Order: sequence, then structure tokens, then C-alpha cells
Amino acid sequence: MGGREATMVLLDENGIRCDGRKVDEPRRIMIRAGGLKNADGSAYIEFGDNKILVGVFGPRDVHPKHMANTDTGILRVRYHMEPFSVGERKNPAPSRREIEISKVIKEALEPAVMLDKFPRTAVDVFIEVLQADGGTRCAALTAASVALADAGIPMRDMVAAIAAGKVADTVILDVNNEEDQAGQADMPMGYMPNIGKITLLQLDGVLTPEEYKKCIEVGIDGCKKVYELQKQALNDKYFGNRD
Ligand code: ADP
Repeated sequence: MGGREATMVLLDENGIRCDGRKVDEPRRIMIRAGGLKNADGSAYIEFGDNKILVGVFGPRDVHPKHMANTDTGILRVRYHMEPFSVGERKNPAPSRREIEISKVIKEALEPAVMLDKFPRTAVDVFIEVLQADGGTRCAALTAASVALADAGIPMRDMVAAIAAGKVADTVILDVNNEEDQAGQADMPMGYMPNIGKITLLQLDGVLTPEEYKKCIEVGIDGCKKVYELQKQALNDKYFGNRD
């Protein structure tokens, strides 16, 4: 954070960001529900230049069996970046970062899914990042919620996610890769709009208490916009003219 800001204009004198957006403007977001024939539920998302596919399987038997919980179903999440998803080839072996992101996405989804109705089973969420450009955990969490709904998993709400952040001492919505690398703060957030509950909140960088409050406000507003697109994707599949 902050290392390269001196040599890069992240916010010009007209308040326009390095990719032409206004401070409170998200990147272009496209969500498609379904698409994978062999999965129980699936979704594809383009979030700016991020491209992510999610497949959901289950509820199904747990192997190894000792991992099963007799009181409730369990959620398992694997976030994986393809070696070609970033400029320099990524080692295909799971990195510490991928293990961490798998864990935070799982924990962000758990309050949304009602797996107590499916004891001894597992619901598996496989996230494949095909192209990464900053904010993949938020895009992946957003798509995973849609894929779980597409699989017919009972849910209290969907989790919508987006990052707030800070560049040039200004709070922004939806941090891209350059802003993440050279900016002052990145705060990914996941939020269930109907319930009004935050299920993911991380912060890389430094914010004043006022900036922190502003980031939460801007982030929640952004999540509400993402939520509309999630619902639209499901409507398009189930009530539109799509397969
Ligand atoms: P997020 O993708 O949720 O923002 P990070 O902040 O860890 O998570 O990563 C920011 C961005 O850095 C990623 O979206 C991706 O574009 C880039 N990135 C992550 N890992 C690698 C890697 N191994 N090689 C090149 N770029 C990477």
C-alpha cells in the first residue's frame, strides 16, 4: 500500500480515477446464473476485468466420513486462481493467499446458508478465477452466493460483496488492481442487504475513524447495487427466456 502512489496518478484534478471512473462508481458487473451442466448450481461473473466461474455441488455425502457433522451440513469452499489468470504465470499449487481467501469466503457465506436441514452432508463451492484484476474475493463471494441459490440451497439471504478503499486521501468504491497496489487502503466487504448484516470485512492499509465510517457506508451502498444484479441474474435464468 502506498508504495507507488507518488509516480502514478490515481485521482486527477477532476476527481476521475486511473480507469476513468468516478470515486463512487463500480466497475462494469455482469452476472450469469447457471451454465455448468454437471454442477448442482453455478454462476459466472465479470467484475471489471475479473472473470470468475463458480460451481456448487451438494448437499452430498461427506468423504472422509469423520468430517461429517451429525447436527448440520457443512460448507466447503475452494478458491483457486488459474496459472494464466495473472500476467506472470501463477504456480498452480494452492498458495497461502488462496487458502486464506477460501477460508474468508466460507466464513462469509456460512451465515447465509441454512445447512442445519442437511445433517451429515457437505455443500462444496469451487471457485475458479480465470482472470484476476483486483477484488477477486468480492467478485467470487458475489458469484458463489448466486451459485448456491441456483443449486437450491435454502438461504437466509444472498451475500453481495464489493471493496471500498482510499486513494489520494479520498474514499473510493470498488478498488481495482492498480488502486490496490498503489493506493492507501483496500477494504473488501460482504453484506446481506435483506438482513442488514456484514459477513466479510477486511482492511489492508490505514484509515482514520471518519474514513472508516465512510468506507462502510460507501461499501454497503455498493453491495446493495451488486445485490440487484445478483437477483437479476437469477430472475433472468428462472423467469426470463434463458436455459
Ligand atoms: P483480491 O483479488 O481479493 O483483491 P488480493 O488483494 O490478495 O485479493 O490481490 C489483489 C490482486 O493482485 C488480485 O486480484 C490479482 O489481480 C493480483 N494477484 C494476486 N495474486 C497474484 C499473483 N500470484 N501474481 C500476480 N498477481 C496476483
